Amino acid sequence: MATIGFIGLGNMGLHMAANLVKAGHTVRAFDIVAANLDAAKAKGVEAASSANDAAKDCEAVVTMLPVGKHVIEVYSGGVLEAANKGTVFIDSSTIDVASSHEAHEMAAAAGMLSVDAPVSGGVGGAEAGTLTFMVGGTDAAFEQSKPIIEGMAGKIVNCGAAGAGQAAKICNNMIMAVSMIGAAEGFVLAEKLGLSHQALFDVVSTSSGSCWSVNNYCPVPGPVPTSPANNNFEPGFMTALMAKDLMLSQEAALQTGASTPMGAEATHLMRLYMSQADVAEKDFSSIINFIRGHQ
Ligand code: NAD
Repeated sequence: MATIGFIGLGNMGLHMAANLVKAGHTVRAFDIVAANLDAAKAKGVEAASSANDAAKDCEAVVTMLPVGKHVIEVYSGGVLEAANKGTVFIDSSTIDVASSHEAHEMAAAAGMLSVDAPVSGGVGGAEAGTLTFMVGGTDAAFEQSKPIIEGMAGKIVNCGAAGAGQAAKICNNMIMAVSMIGAAEGFVLAEKLGLSHQALFDVVSTSSGSCWSVNNYCPVPGPVPTSPANNNFEPGFMTALMAKDLMLSQEAALQTGASTPMGAEATHLMRLYMSQADVAEKDFSSIINFIRGHQ
């Protein structure tokens, strides 16, 4: 069993760190928000006094931070100097591919191994330890990170070279946003047609319209009791984070010349929704309220 530094104990990181403890590892963690660190302590995580303190004498350091600038700030703030040479740095945050490459380069220059390893599966998957990890990096870094990631994962996909995990994540979330908006439109149309939510769910979830956004994360209360729609759209996956991922997909589309008209429309709708209501911290599936025309 390993000693693991863990930096970023938010909605996802708290549960991921707790699962590493359950898997038998020693986890030394840090978050700038004291309450988040207290919540992690209650789950058996040792509190570090700083990110650099968390990175000392570990086999692996996991970061689960909001966006690329936070990862670069932490990587350039002394963690790479604090860690032993050969430590594997596992960045599970969803960040832009350019920042991910920068983080890999910084880690390599400091004599560390590194993988980008963003996740899918939401807070529920983080808590259950069933997240899908999309991993990019060298074979050596993948092999060293795998036994650590296994403590938090349902599935681990080796996506290829550095940055490939982030690329997979951006594509996945663009698909998810488009399908969620499609699902929301379907349920709103059903309401207008006098069809019950449950009837539409029973049909679609076993028909050709079935998808994760309907079957697992239905945007109306009732059919899927665990979906955020049943809990006043508490996240879950915040609208602000989805808008961020959609922006990343559009930056990537621009850089590569890929045509993503539905992704572009989803980005526009998600940002418009956020600009018109105080919903940044609500679950992204609450966009059904915007589609329906009221909050
Ligand atoms: P969050 O905002 O709840 O957690 C981020 C944590 O990082 C916070 O606790 C914050 O205090 C901490 N933090 C920020 N800067 C720090 C620093 N310099 N040092 C230490 N701690 C710092 O976000 P989250 O929902 O846990 O998501 C984390 C990442 O995972 C994001 O990139 C997000 O896009 C991605 N993600 C989230 C979900 C989801 O369902 N929430 C699913 C998949 C991927």
